[in-house]
Amino acid sequence: MTTFDFDLFVVGGGSAGVRAARMAGQRGARVALAEAGAMGGTCVNVGCIPKKLYSYAAGYANSFKEAQGYGWSAGEPVFDWERLKAQRAREIGRLNGVYTELLVKAGVQLISGWAVLVDAHTVAVGGRHYTARAILVATGGQPSVPQIPGAEHVISSDAIFDLTPFPRRLLVVGGGYIACEFASIFQGMGAQVTQLYRGRQVLRGFDDEVRDFIAVQMREHGVDLRLQADVAAISRQAQGLQVQLLDGSMVEADAVLYATGRVPKVLGLGLEVLGLEQRRDGAIVVNEHYQTSVPSIYAVGDVTARLQLTPVALAEAMVVVDQLFGPAPGQAPRSLSYELIPTAVFTHPNIATVGWTEAQARERCERVRIYRVDFKPLRHTLSGSRERTLMKLVVDDASDRVVGLHMVGADAGDIVQGFAVAMKAGATKAVFDSTIGIHPTAAEEFVTMRDISRF
Ligand code: FAD
Ligand code: NDP
Repeated sequence: MTTFDFDLFVVGGGSAGVRAARMAGQRGARVALAEAGAMGGTCVNVGCIPKKLYSYAAGYANSFKEAQGYGWSAGEPVFDWERLKAQRAREIGRLNGVYTELLVKAGVQLISGWAVLVDAHTVAVGGRHYTARAILVATGGQPSVPQIPGAEHVISSDAIFDLTPFPRRLLVVGGGYIACEFASIFQGMGAQVTQLYRGRQVLRGFDDEVRDFIAVQMREHGVDLRLQADVAAISRQAQGLQVQLLDGSMVEADAVLYATGRVPKVLGLGLEVLGLEQRRDGAIVVNEHYQTSVPSIYAVGDVTARLQLTPVALAEAMVVVDQLFGPAPGQAPRSLSYELIPTAVFTHPNIATVGWTEAQARERCERVRIYRVDFKPLRHTLSGSRERTLMKLVVDDASDRVVGLHMVGADAGDIVQGFAVAMKAGATKAVFDSTIGIHPTAAEEFVTMRDISRF
């Protein structure tokens, strides 16, 4: 019988890799994890966590202004970008330590360095070879920036967290999650933000009404959002970056953030040698068990470019561990459905959504009922803010099931998370109607919408 150094070798210590290694270690497996950068990967170091911290920082700008309507007076608030960066770095450093400690406690051998797949059971790191019964590739993704003239002057989201100095004028290119979130964040922190999106409306794939609504709200907050606009060329001048747009107009900026999507991180991993099947964009192809075309090698998370979200990467990792080492004591083996995965965009205000858009529901159901409200939240009756909230339910008329639920408004992510549970349980509109609201909240609107807005 072949003996291996490890039962599982995990490549990449991001959301998926850390979770898989820790859980496998806790089940008694002999596990190694190789990480080339900082422990925790994208989410912890240059993604969800620092982004949300910066989003909170930006939110205070409005709070200071709005507090006046509630009787507060204070001096002119001053934002210190260097202090925020230092605070963030301290917290992320702490989290890196927590992740390392969790892995060590689970008995995982940590190997620092770039890993290369050598064969179906062998990984090389820093010239040393390690063998394993199974290998899990969880190498994540990286920003993708198009080759425009002057591309050397632009930054991606990886660099924005530590940008020096603070960009007083920021140009954001893209209309997806990252572009919209950072446009909101830097606008809130006091930058003059211009956002360019090449298409008709930002956030393609989200409900059309949500897209239109957030565009209005972002502009209301001060983002100069320009649609059907794109960059022709960028050059550096004495007064900053000169950005020429395709329509011939010019924008001056201190920094240009390209948030134009992410690609799987597969270069230099040795996949070609093994003949591992990949999509055109480099994503590793896996079957329903997350097995690649080489059966002892598994892949999960952003490197498979399905849904690039941390909770999805975590869930996929747990499914693989259950398959390889059995479920946790007393539990059934996990599986993952890609239906009804909730998601939030941390713009100001936030967007959160679960289920089908109105357009998707109209394609799939014979008849749909749309319930929607948009209103000034109670908080803003005194705050002076003109921010509005949108809430929308998409209901399949035949079954009465709520098939889509969408919100733009404060704390939308926190509110929609609970409703996602109800929708997973198959809640009908009648169940929503029979639920008593919590008053006075914005969330109660989801259980008090009685009038059909349209069929
Ligand atoms: P990663 O977290 O990227 O981890 C991969 C790790 O592998 C990295 O640490 C990398 O250094 C390492 N690695 C790569 N190649 C090798 C190699 N050959 N050898 C050794 N190590 C290697 N998702 C959300 O759900 N909510 C959010 O709010 C959110 N915000 C985001 C904000 C930004 C700016 C970005 C960029 C992403 C955000 N995401 C968010 C997405 C989320 O971060 C990813 O979906 C998640 O991190 C994917 O986890 P992963 O384990 O697949 O990859
Ligand atoms: P997205 O795929 O969400 O958006 C990319 C944007 O860039 C789209 O608007 C796209 O336009 C545009 N674009 C693509 N190529 C070009 C180009 N050559 N020129 C101009 N515009 C271009 O990617 P992001 O980078 O925003 O984020 C990557 C992923 O990370 C997200 O999809 C999400 O899964 C995850 N993420 C999650 C977050 C969260 O959960 N809150 C936050 C941040 C990231 P078009 O629509 O026309 O193709």
